[in-house]
Amino acid sequence: MGKISFADVASALSDEALHLVLMPTEQCNFRCIYCFESFRHGAMPVPVVNAVENLLTSRFDGLTYLVVSWYGGEPLLAMNVIASVSERIRSLLKSRPVVRYKGSMTTNGYLLTPEVFRKLLDWRILTYQISFDGPKEHHDRKRIRADGGPTFDRLWGNLIKMRAFPDSFAVTVRLHVDRDNFRQAPEFLEQFARDFGDDSRFAVYIIKLGQYSNSPSQNLNLLPPGDSDGIMKEIREFAGAMKIPVRVADRDDHESSSMCFAAKLNSFVIRSNGEISKCIVALDQDANHVGKVNEDGTLNLDRMKLLKWARGLSSGEKQELECPLRDIDLRIAARTSCARARPEP
Ligand code: SF4
Repeated sequence: MGKISFADVASALSDEALHLVLMPTEQCNFRCIYCFESFRHGAMPVPVVNAVENLLTSRFDGLTYLVVSWYGGEPLLAMNVIASVSERIRSLLKSRPVVRYKGSMTTNGYLLTPEVFRKLLDWRILTYQISFDGPKEHHDRKRIRADGGPTFDRLWGNLIKMRAFPDSFAVTVRLHVDRDNFRQAPEFLEQFARDFGDDSRFAVYIIKLGQYSNSPSQNLNLLPPGDSDGIMKEIREFAGAMKIPVRVADRDDHESSSMCFAAKLNSFVIRSNGEISKCIVALDQDANHVGKVNEDGTLNLDRMKLLKWARGLSSGEKQELECPLRDIDLRIAARTSCARARPEP
């Protein structure tokens, strides 16, 4: 993880920067067996889309840096929301090209067809994260469609079609490793090297699978704690020997520092119902419900709650900057899939 500098802290306080994590829907077409989401809300209704667009418009004149990270649920299930907000961003950028803009998306990749990808690239959504649970045989047991069907072939096919685009973009293939699939991780990495090894736009991020939900129906075969570090090291070394680029952080929109966006005062998660949160993991926790965006783009924020998430900016405590959730709800932080909360060696 990168170091947190004075400049990082200053930029987390600046009115000239804005980072929005947008959840255009909280529904998903997958039911991964370890998922922690509750699929509580559907697609962002028009008044909330208006609210997001008005927020962007009202803030734009004062911005020098804008980051929009699409998250979900599965964001591509709400393509009309992405289209509307992205078109607004496009016209705002045209009127004020001095603003640096970064768009990214965490998607399961199922709906990421060439037609959809072309549109996303045109909206300058250039950074993607797509997860796999190992080679097809393992992946299709865990990352399954809501109707129970398999997903590997379609995802891999979409990735291969992305490769044909000449544009500049970055895809992080996130590989979950557990006791079931660790022996097959090299097979997955060999397939990755065969199909993407000569294309530096594609990289892997390798992470241990965790008990993300407390659902008793989960029957996960996690890596044994005593052996997991050694196993992960071997897998990463294997990737290194195959000259596969291995990313060290799982979300490029966190930028170079290891400070979580939840610790910043200019970063907000906007849920599909218009609620504002700080952390993408503890969505059901009251402490994480810090406000609401109004249709005119103004924000109602609970300052006391907000300051709790941003306390690291005044204390300078590394842990509070890297994952403020850890002190707010250690129980949830301990099982999150978020790499910031569970630093990898
Ligand atoms: S779990 Fe921690 S690091 Fe991850 S988004 Fe929440 S606060 Fe940030």
